Amino acid sequence: MNKQTLSFQAEVKQILHLVTHSLYSNKEIFLRELISNASDACDKLRFEALNNPALYEDAPPLEVRVSFDATARTITIHDNGIGMSMEEAIANLGTIAKSGTREFVAALEAQQKKDAQLIGQFGVGFYSGFIVADSIIVESRRAGLKADEGVRWSSKGDGDFEVEAIERIQRGTSVTLHLRADEEEFLTGWKLKSIIGKYSDHISLPILMQKEEWDAKANKQVLRDEWVAVNKAAALWTRSKNDITPEQYQEFYKQISYDSEAPLAYTHNRVEGRSEYTQLLYVPSKAPFDLWNRDKRGGVKLYVKRVFIMDDAEALMPVYLRFVKGVIDSADLPLNVSRELLQESRDVKAIREGSTKRVLGMLEALADSEDPAERAKYAAFWKDFGAVLKEGVGEDHANRERLAKLYRFASTHTDEGVSFTDYVGRMKQGQDAIYVIAANSLAAAKSSPQLEIFKKKGIEVLLLADRVDEWLLSHLYEFDGHPLQSVVKGAVDLGKLQDEDEKKQAEEATAAIKPLLERMKVTLKERAKDVRVTTRLVDSPACLVVEEGDMSSHLARMLKQAGQDAPQSQPILEINAAHPLIKRLDSTEHFDDLTHILFDQALLAEGGQLDDPAAYVRRVNSLLLT
Ligand code: ADP
Ligand code: MG
Repeated sequence: MNKQTLSFQAEVKQILHLVTHSLYSNKEIFLRELISNASDACDKLRFEALNNPALYEDAPPLEVRVSFDATARTITIHDNGIGMSMEEAIANLGTIAKSGTREFVAALEAQQKKDAQLIGQFGVGFYSGFIVADSIIVESRRAGLKADEGVRWSSKGDGDFEVEAIERIQRGTSVTLHLRADEEEFLTGWKLKSIIGKYSDHISLPILMQKEEWDAKANKQVLRDEWVAVNKAAALWTRSKNDITPEQYQEFYKQISYDSEAPLAYTHNRVEGRSEYTQLLYVPSKAPFDLWNRDKRGGVKLYVKRVFIMDDAEALMPVYLRFVKGVIDSADLPLNVSRELLQESRDVKAIREGSTKRVLGMLEALADSEDPAERAKYAAFWKDFGAVLKEGVGEDHANRERLAKLYRFASTHTDEGVSFTDYVGRMKQGQDAIYVIAANSLAAAKSSPQLEIFKKKGIEVLLLADRVDEWLLSHLYEFDGHPLQSVVKGAVDLGKLQDEDEKKQAEEATAAIKPLLERMKVTLKERAKDVRVTTRLVDSPACLVVEEGDMSSHLARMLKQAGQDAPQSQPILEINAAHPLIKRLDSTEHFDDLTHILFDQALLAEGGQLDDPAAYVRRVNSLLLT
């Protein structure tokens, strides 16, 4: 009578459909996911019990039990963790779609060979049970609730699930899978043990299974009533490096990150000194789907003396290293530490600084390696994570130099992978500044008229086309004593790179067309701060620049797009006195039109938008008709 039938949330239905119809490879991961949930539930109990020891009730130490019944064709994963109330079971196992649900469906649909490995990555691991089961029964009681406040949840994995209140003496959760007809292979102790060994060895709780014995009379294996641990049950990071194989490091990474690919690099250290802690940190090889969400908390789990305290402890890593995954286990922090406390703790600050250095060290080792394969790894890392790492210059002053060395750019010489160090090594005799240009796209940067003189003289310019590059330029002013100079700001001062002849020519040209410049200024008085002759142009008649110290037009446009106020400063129109169009200006009857057109075209060339496109068209047409 108290049985209720409820419908799965729409996106959960989609997942179930995919899971039951198209996941064929790595089916065995269902066990990893369910054990991982059991272990999370025990971690949660341990954590809540710090403030409320009564939650332990009088039950034995935390553990996970895995059992099977070959006749009934069931596998059960049992834990004595936090458990679920009826409301929690309804919400967590059916009606609340996790934030990653839609991404999971999209990622899976995009895959040719649909791989079950993906499932945990998106926080929907529970449903992996339906890969091998045609029905699942969950029985649970939340720690602290009364025995008659248990819940039974069951579903066949189609559109809906049932819940009913039950009496349940033990706290915690049992998940029972009824295996599909063709999934017998999972119904042996040997098979289950080998899957646990492969995926769950490092789980720090004991995972128990019943001992099996050969019964000669019955001529088969029989289960005894004796439970033994089938995993090592020692948290991986507490073990000595020498006892851990690369495969174990990788498997641990996959478990905590839900990434199906091996990590790019990892570092495992015990740090002693003012603050004592163990760190095991990984750099993933591919960007996660939510890398761009700066609000997403970091990927590092905090433990205190082996007790799990919290996931995603953002205070342990700077935001720009939010892609780092791993575990930090502190010997000094109090067990009841809260997120607020973490923000202020000096121990945490020391841990964050130490861990940041380790991560940068890992990246440097790849970037500077003698081994081309390692350097290629860094290049791949940079492609996925470079833009995030660039946020670091503004965020982490102490490591600005180290970060700058890790940055890679495109340039007028090479399409990718140019470091500041490479650039400085190639600077021309007499060159002092590092020249850069920022634009919306690489193509736009490359064809900027402002680059013409640099190309002609063979001077390299770094091409910055990432959205964060303007931010980078507003925080990084120099590298190794060389100022970063935007080629769209201020007058071109090529200093010693320009010979006396060229300088003289420019001065003479300016003097000769002084009256013309004055007329143009009048025409453009609403639009340009100044009109002047430049030496930076070779083939183009004109370009726009901003005054040194003004915000670049590219940045102003980006801020506007983002809905922010950008200080409106007028640009300067620079003209190429030798260009035929400029020469024509002197004699044309359409002086105003041509002057506006030169301005408009310069604006278009740098990716800007015309305020009055119709006026531009009208002017061009009137000139076409002359
Ligand atoms: P995730 O583990 O990433 O949160 P899952 O799909 O694996 O996603 O699990 C969904 C939710 O169901 C969990 O967050 C948890 O709240 C609940 N849950 C699953 N298994 C258990 C369990 N054994 N004990 C308590 N709660 C559980
Ligand atoms: Mg899970």
